[in-house]
Amino acid sequence: MSIALRRQIACHSDLAAILALVDPCPKGVPRPSFALPSGRTAQATQPLRAFRLKGTRCAECGLQGHHFLEFRTGRQGLSGLALMGFGDRGPTSPTADHIVPRSLGGAGAPGNLRVLCAECNVRKANRCTVATVTRFRLAEVKNRLRASYGALHPSFQEFHRAYLRHFDATVSIDQGYVDDAGLIAYAAAIEHRFGLVCDLASVPGHLFPEGYDRS
Ligand SMILES: [Zn+2]
Repeated sequence: MSIALRRQIACHSDLAAILALVDPCPKGVPRPSFALPSGRTAQATQPLRAFRLKGTRCAECGLQGHHFLEFRTGRQGLSGLALMGFGDRGPTSPTADHIVPRSLGGAGAPGNLRVLCAECNVRKANRCTVATVTRFRLAEVKNRLRASYGALHPSFQEFHRAYLRHFDATVSIDQGYVDDAGLIAYAAAIEHRFGLVCDLASVPGHLFPEGYDRS
């Protein structure tokens, strides 16, 4: 990412301190703003929320984010934040990647996001790299989701029915079975709808305790 030098305001090397200011799963306001140490305002963008929830290390190559570059935007008093790191071939920017690509129906919710550096993100393109080796019985998935979230959210059943119509239309559904990618997309939608924060990369483990017979 190249940003003209005159637009740079500050470098923040304490990543945790900046990310502690970010609301990871805002409800109602898509990009709530927060105050930076510089006294200016930034918005909790999707990448910032992904960094807050998933950390600042590339999920593929392990490249670690080094500092936030604060830069001026076109809007008065509003700063942008770019995470910068140093790869083998020079500076790079870890960013948020959709595990299930948007073009394949993946949600923009945190559960469907992970952190990839620019190089790994370009390499991945718009493919879904989630392994589809595991097939889960959809009925069992539904029962477990209901048990996990139904009591918390009275409108779950209504949502569940509505979302299943979408789910049934995706390629991930296969005669009553759903694979890992489909499950992540499904659970991310639940997260999006209810503002739940959970690490959906571990949803299969969450829903299926150790030793559970998945067949
Ligand atoms: Zn990488």
